[in-house]
Amino acid sequence: MIAGVRRDRIKALAKREAKRFAATRPKTRAALEAGADAWLDGVPMHWMKDWPMPFPLLVTKAKGARLTDLDGYGIDDFCLGDTGSMFGHSPKPVAQAIRRQARRGLTYMLPTTAALRAGALLCERFGDFRWQIATTATDANRFALRVARAVTGKPKLLVFNGCYHGTVDDTMVELTNGRTAPRAGLVGQVADLTKTAVSVEFNDVEAVRAALETGEIAAILTEPVMTNSCMVLPQAGFHDALRQLSRRHGALLIIDETHTISSGLGGYSRVHSLSPDIFVVGKCVAGGMPTAVWGMTPDVAAAYARYNETRAPGHSGMGTTLSANPMQFACLEATLSEVMTKENYDHMEKGAERLSDGLHAAIERHGAPWHVVRVGARVEFICAPGPLKNGTEAAAAHAPEVEAAIHTALLNRGCLIAPFHNMMLVSPATRKRQIDGLIAAFDEILSFLFADDK
Ligand code: PMP
Repeated sequence: MIAGVRRDRIKALAKREAKRFAATRPKTRAALEAGADAWLDGVPMHWMKDWPMPFPLLVTKAKGARLTDLDGYGIDDFCLGDTGSMFGHSPKPVAQAIRRQARRGLTYMLPTTAALRAGALLCERFGDFRWQIATTATDANRFALRVARAVTGKPKLLVFNGCYHGTVDDTMVELTNGRTAPRAGLVGQVADLTKTAVSVEFNDVEAVRAALETGEIAAILTEPVMTNSCMVLPQAGFHDALRQLSRRHGALLIIDETHTISSGLGGYSRVHSLSPDIFVVGKCVAGGMPTAVWGMTPDVAAAYARYNETRAPGHSGMGTTLSANPMQFACLEATLSEVMTKENYDHMEKGAERLSDGLHAAIERHGAPWHVVRVGARVEFICAPGPLKNGTEAAAAHAPEVEAAIHTALLNRGCLIAPFHNMMLVSPATRKRQIDGLIAAFDEILSFLFADDK
C-alpha cells in the first residue's frame, strides 16, 4: 500500500492513463519527435520533463482558465503556470497594456510615468514599503538577502526545512539528522552553503530562537504558509513569534508572498496583519509578464541609505538589465489597478472553497486517508492525513507514484493541475462548471483507486 492505495491499483492506473495520453496525442508526439532535439534533453526548461505524462503537452493557446493543445484538446487549467497566471491567462487589462506599450518600446533602462503610478499602487496594495523591481522572484529574494546582510552586518540566513524561494543559492539547504546540510541534488555545487544558511523546522519556535541567539542571523526568509512541499499552515502564534524574536535579535523578517498572494487582497501579510521588514512577491504580480517586486520598510530603507554612505564604490551585486522595463510597469499598473481587485479575489475565494469542499467530500466518500488544504485561491489535496506541521512531515506526505498517476488521469479528463505537488488555483476566469468537472474527475479516479474488490 502507498497512501492507503493498493500498489497494483496505482500501477494499473498509471499504465492505463499513460497509454491513453500517448494514444490521444499523435500530433504532439510527432511534433516533438521532429523538433525537440535542439533543446537540451528535448525541453527548453529542464523541469518541463518533470510532468508525469509520457511526453509534454504542446500548448497552442491559453485564454482565461483554459488551454488548448496541439492535438486540439481543451483543458481546464488549474495549474495556471504555477501561479504566474493565477489571475487567468492574458487578463484583458494586461493584454491591452501590452498592446499599448508594444508601440512605445520594450526596454530602455529608464522609468515611465506608469512606473510612478505603479509605485503608489504597490504601497496602496501591500503597505508602506520602498520598492524595487526584479524580473523573477528568485532575483527579488536574492537582492533582499543582500540588503538584509548589508544593514545587519550579519552573515547567515535562516530558512525553513523544505522551503523553496526560487533558485537562490543561500536557501538550498535542508535539515539532515537535525543538522543543516546542502540540499541533495544541487548541480555543480562547490561553495559550502552551511556557512551562510541555517535550516530549522517550520512551526518550531524554539529552534528559531536558538538559531537567532547565535547572533549570526541577518534574516529569516519565509513564506507565510509553506507551499512548496505539501502545504503546511502556520500554527497559532508562529508568525508573532517570528516577528518578536527577529526584532529582539536584530534580524530582518523577509516574507515571500509569491504563492500566498492567493490569500486575498494584499497577500497573506495584509489578510493576517503580518509586518515584514521586506516584502517579496513575483510570478502573477504583473499578470504573467515576468516581474517581481520587493519592498523594504522606511526604517530598513533608512538603514540601507546609511550603509550605502560607507560602502566602497563598485557594483552592488544587485540588478539585471531587463528589469524595470516599461512593459513590466505597464503590466504591473494594469494588474494592480484592474485585475488584483476585491471582486476578483471574492470570485477566486468562492470557487476555491467549492473545489476544496468537493475534493474533501470525495476523499471522505472513498475513505482515503488524505486531506485538503486551502490558502485563499490555492487548494491542495495531500495523499496523507493532516494537518502537517513542518517540512519533514510534508516530505513524508508525498506519494509520488500515486500523485503522478492521478495527474495524468486528471489530464486525460481535461483537467491540468500543478506538477511537483497537487496544487490547484482558481482564477477570476475559472467557471463553476470547470471546478465541478475537476471534482467529478477526481471522484472517478478515487473510485478506481479505492474500489472495494472483496
Ligand atoms: N518564492 C516562492 C515562494 C516560490 O514558490 C517561487 C517559485 N515557485 C519563487 C520564489 C521563485 O519564483 P521564480 O521561479 O519566478 O523566480
